[in-house]
Amino acid sequence: MAKGNRPRGGGGGGGSPRERIENARTLSDAIQIADRAGIHTSAEVLRDVHDEQLIKDGLAEAAWVKEEFPIVGDIQITSDPSHKSAYMYSDLGSNTIAYAGFNGENTRMRANEYRAGAVLTDRNGLTDSPKGTTMKHVVTHEMGHQVVRAASDAIVAKATNGKYTTSTKAVQDVVADRIVQTAYQSMPTSQRGRRGVSALSKSISKYAWSGGSHETIAEALADYRANGNNAQPFSKSIYNTLKSFTTSSNIDALASSLR
Ligand SMILES: [Zn+2]
Repeated sequence: MAKGNRPRGGGGGGGSPRERIENARTLSDAIQIADRAGIHTSAEVLRDVHDEQLIKDGLAEAAWVKEEFPIVGDIQITSDPSHKSAYMYSDLGSNTIAYAGFNGENTRMRANEYRAGAVLTDRNGLTDSPKGTTMKHVVTHEMGHQVVRAASDAIVAKATNGKYTTSTKAVQDVVADRIVQTAYQSMPTSQRGRRGVSALSKSISKYAWSGGSHETIAEALADYRANGNNAQPFSKSIYNTLKSFTTSSNIDALASSLR
């Protein structure tokens, strides 16, 4: 296939960065393709995450989110081995997502745990992660936070005529709440039944339910990515709402409502 002369970020065709990352023969090739698509891998990732397939799969997930939501902009992927409990996190101030608590030895354990065991069910029947997701979808989840951050940044920039270009957590919280409420209201009553936002979030995962709007959105995106049309109806509605929130006409409308 011809390389290098296709427009960036276009559709899901054979030449998309995601497909080229998936088809890359080496991790180093995958990292270079991702880098040109605006997903930058720091050296710490290679130092700490001793699982080439996981890094490659994660890059493909990041590329998928960027293709779906171009507003997200450039992303840095790094590693922070000092963390004990988390396995990935987002820094919304620096547009970074980090492998946390990976340091060679425990990489395989963690990766296997989330690949195979992934979906642990608690005594109330709640799953920790959306059904069908594996470790790589943690990247999709973190990228979901970056989409909300990017939409919030764009709304602030528009509302202030470019005086400010980054959003505060308070703005991001308002935007996340609005996305979840809009997604809820756009579901047909036949799908919602008598269930409220809380119960529908529970249908996605425990974290989608317990973590507030930001986690509901991130988990819904992971669910949609892993399961497509078979994802939970609320996840699909959140995905569609996220799509519409990140179009320029909606950014303009939301910005005027903040003025
Ligand atoms: Zn999260």
